[in-house]
Amino acid sequence: MNDLKSFKEWNIKVKCKGNYGGCGSLLQVEIDDINISLIKEIDGGINLGYCFKCPVCDSIVNILENNLPTYVKKTSLKKFKKHFIKNI
Ligand SMILES: [Zn+2]
Repeated sequence: MNDLKSFKEWNIKVKCKGNYGGCGSLLQVEIDDINISLIKEIDGGINLGYCFKCPVCDSIVNILENNLPTYVKKTSLKKFKKHFIKNI
């Protein structure tokens, strides 16, 4: 069970450092901004990662899993699965 208040108010401050260096903006990321990305590992396997899109430069910025509370990860995964199933 989640505390709805803290759930809604959760946010994290992340500096934009996208795939090509990003723009360096300090961004406040909220739960709705978090998306799932598929990361191809060197051994050919695919892992799930967490990311968001910088509103300033459109870079995809990865967020370390350790920086996200469990309920944020769960919500993002749910959103992803719904979206994924819809698109099959
Ligand atoms: Zn940026």
